[in-house]
Amino acid sequence: MHDIAFALKQLDNKIKILAQGRCIQLIAVSKTKPAEMIQKALDAGQRMFGENQVQEAQAKWPALKQQYSDIELHLIGPLQTNKVRKALQLFDVIEVLDRFKLAHAIARISKEEQKYPKIYIQVNIGKEPQKAGITPDELKDFYAYCQNEEKLNIAGLMAIPPHGQDPMPYFQQLKQLQMMLDAKDLSMGMSGDYDKAIICGATHIRIGSHIFGARS
Ligand SMILES: *Cc1c(COP(=O)(O)O)cnc(C)c1O
Repeated sequence: MHDIAFALKQLDNKIKILAQGRCIQLIAVSKTKPAEMIQKALDAGQRMFGENQVQEAQAKWPALKQQYSDIELHLIGPLQTNKVRKALQLFDVIEVLDRFKLAHAIARISKEEQKYPKIYIQVNIGKEPQKAGITPDELKDFYAYCQNEEKLNIAGLMAIPPHGQDPMPYFQQLKQLQMMLDAKDLSMGMSGDYDKAIICGATHIRIGSHIFGARS
């Protein structure tokens, strides 16, 4: 049986050593994991979580959020425009803004719902054709558009480097983009590479299997 409290404690120690005094936020990625496992993380004091599907999150999180007022739930998987309203009702941070149409939908429905979550722009840092995200070349214009035209609460950048390559150069490039844009948050690093992400300047890391065990 995977010990969630122990895994969180170990992770916390490792993060402290790597962070060298900086504050790193741990997003516990609970996708595919049942509410009982999430409860164990909550019991251990974890409050920041990530889910990658709106529908799955709707089944698990409303009850938990009623119990704990200080949960911060991040959407880290693709968002279709027809799910924006439900996403805004449930998520505190949307990490996956990756296109103009979605920016416009979030802006419009935010007003209707009076919900203004923090938004991260997803960057396709490896310029991979099959991957979502704004390419580094388009980022500056898209960032300005979302802030100035759509008046979105843009708080940072999120990215997943190409699979099977050294993530370090990509993390470094993301840090440079964050600094260029003067963005507050930088969400990068997963179970396999969070140490490198922290060294390169991540403010948020997204960890699933290290905390909750492997996904089937
Ligand atoms: C699943 C997922 C994670 C967590 O992955 P692990 O390797 O289990 O830590 C992080 N970010 C995103 C976008 C994910 O979909």
